[in-house]
Amino acid sequence: MGVEQTYMIDSVIHNGLIVTADPSFRIIENGGIGICDGKIVSLWKTDHEQPLPQAHEIFDAQGGIIMPGLINAHTHLPMSIFRGLSDDLPLHEWLHEHIFPAEAAFISPQSVELGARLSCAELLLNGVTTCCDGYFLADNVAQAVIDSGIRAVVGQGVVDFPAPGVADPSQNVSSAVSFTRRWKNKNSLLQPSIFCHAPYTCSAETLKAAKKAADRHDLLFQIHVCETRAEVIQCKKDHGCSPVQYLHQLGLLNCKTLLVHAVWLDEDDIQIIADCASSIAHCPESNMKLASGIAPVEDFLCAGITVGLGTDGCASNNDLDLLAELDVAAKLHKIRQMDPTALNAATAVKMVTLEGAKALGLAQSIGSLEPGKCADVVIVDTLQPHLKPLFHPESHLVYTAKGSDVRHVMVDGKWVVRDGKLLTLDLPSLLENVNRLAETIAERNGLAKCC
Ligand SMILES: [Zn+2]
Repeated sequence: MGVEQTYMIDSVIHNGLIVTADPSFRIIENGGIGICDGKIVSLWKTDHEQPLPQAHEIFDAQGGIIMPGLINAHTHLPMSIFRGLSDDLPLHEWLHEHIFPAEAAFISPQSVELGARLSCAELLLNGVTTCCDGYFLADNVAQAVIDSGIRAVVGQGVVDFPAPGVADPSQNVSSAVSFTRRWKNKNSLLQPSIFCHAPYTCSAETLKAAKKAADRHDLLFQIHVCETRAEVIQCKKDHGCSPVQYLHQLGLLNCKTLLVHAVWLDEDDIQIIADCASSIAHCPESNMKLASGIAPVEDFLCAGITVGLGTDGCASNNDLDLLAELDVAAKLHKIRQMDPTALNAATAVKMVTLEGAKALGLAQSIGSLEPGKCADVVIVDTLQPHLKPLFHPESHLVYTAKGSDVRHVMVDGKWVVRDGKLLTLDLPSLLENVNRLAETIAERNGLAKCC
């Protein structure tokens, strides 16, 4: 086994098929992991001649797939309270006639925290240990994140019109900066960030000020861009260039910039993003549901751009099941290219592990199972009919398993889900509170109460 041990470690997880997702995408059959002080200290292939390392906890993975916690590169946690409220509409109509009015009526510190808790519960139960969020009232999002035990990048939203928690738009950037000051270095699981909604909802001055502040404090800067063809046409009309060129001219693109959606890009845009070392959060289900288009992910990868996978918010997806999103992503790019070799299973798994971590600037600490990294670990059940036989674990993770196959989840060395049960939040009371709010939303929207 090659594990020299002079002290008792915290946990050993053994008897699993380890998908390390490390740079060589090493897979270890009948493997084990040693964990101490929230960090991975060793990985090994079990040799039955050798004893397991001494640990306070010896955990039997029962032949399951042991992998790094999944990374959701883009979401809006509080929007789970609007799940299924309005579907089957074009983006502009959906946003302006349904989502913005619903937000105006129902978004409050309490509902943001409730929605964020609901999303964190869903994410953890589905094996997501890190998410990248952008929304308003981010203090309440941050509180929910910390209570749930998930790891997150939490971005305070910036737009040039009155928003929840920021009644005066002239305070939008300063409010975001205050949020990041309050939360920087407060909790090791939470990284504050600034999230400008889009080039068409923020002025050039706002965008520049927000990015300058993000860079000054070494924070991730997030922005939706090129989500629809209409956005690109409008930008060319307003600014004489594509949204990506516009952001580049404003100095917004560097290695701490995460571009969300990036559906309508031309070759020049892709080259600019690659040259600036910015990353992309690909959200295929949201783009499909709103009929926005298909992002040219294969072209991004060829250009050397880091691409993570995001679910987007529950109002446009409508769930946070990242394993199901993987399946869709892999198949979508095959049909787009009319090439079954496009976006193969291993490449897809990397998008929710190491590449996702790179996209968020967190690859030093998460994204793969390697000694020295944080112990964010997921165990996927393999003892179900639909998961047998098992020849290639990456194939199962992309084409077969769903979030509901996740059995155990650890974040930073602590179990947050065991045997499919969430340990960190009181789920029955959370669901009861969500039902109560949903009744009010249904009433105001003239909908039948189905909850
Ligand atoms: Zn979004």
